[in-house]
Amino acid sequence: MRRLLVIAAAGSGLRLGRELPKALVPLRGVPMLDWALRAFAQHLLAIPIDLVVVTAPQAHRAEFERIVAGRARVVPGGVTRSDSVRAGFAALEASDDDVVAVHDAARPFIRAQEADAVFAAAEATGAAIAAIPIVDTIKRVAEGRIVQTVDREGLYGAATPQAFRGDVLRRALASGRDGTDESVLCEDLGIPVAVVPVSRRVFKITTEADLELAEAMLLAARGRRMP
Ligand code: C5P
Repeated sequence: MRRLLVIAAAGSGLRLGRELPKALVPLRGVPMLDWALRAFAQHLLAIPIDLVVVTAPQAHRAEFERIVAGRARVVPGGVTRSDSVRAGFAALEASDDDVVAVHDAARPFIRAQEADAVFAAAEATGAAIAAIPIVDTIKRVAEGRIVQTVDREGLYGAATPQAFRGDVLRRALASGRDGTDESVLCEDLGIPVAVVPVSRRVFKITTEADLELAEAMLLAARGRRMP
């Protein structure tokens, strides 16, 4: 049984208002993808990861190769996130017993201990995801007005890594469906998915405000690898 990893990094920088793919956008001078890869460095993990694949947009392949510099294989991503993950998963050639995690390059502040915990939970149960407990009061809004307050008890924001036994992820991805994460593909098939609560630091960088927050976190952690 091996631990394998797909870093989904083939997304565009459109919502950030950038020409550059989001994973290449620098945070304190270092590309977001590089920060994400550093979190999975062998010496930080309880059990090292055997193989890492990064999905990249075709047009920027060379830049991605330069960043990963021998730490991972780079494979072309797809139009949708699920297609990118399918491409990365195929490149790993995982056996049914391997545990395969998918991580968003856009979540550079994952900690190795959190990733270890998600892998361990997937080894024990078959499927597990990192998730962030919701702290806000959640309102459903239509036409600019509140229509419902959703009880936040038991609500989580799905994050990554999301880890699965090889046979489970193979089945989930084979549905051909697109999801905004992998666990929804499992849910569709009735496969139970365990939840590992993680820090709010594992937020996904999506907007300019998120970039500012990420920069501030790195500045506050000056001299250390991560906040
Ligand atoms: O767009 P969003 O931020 O939701 O994407 C989440 C993650 O999925 C990002 O790390 C992004 O690079 C990746 N992605 C991908 N292929 C796509 C779209 C998104 O690998 N076609």
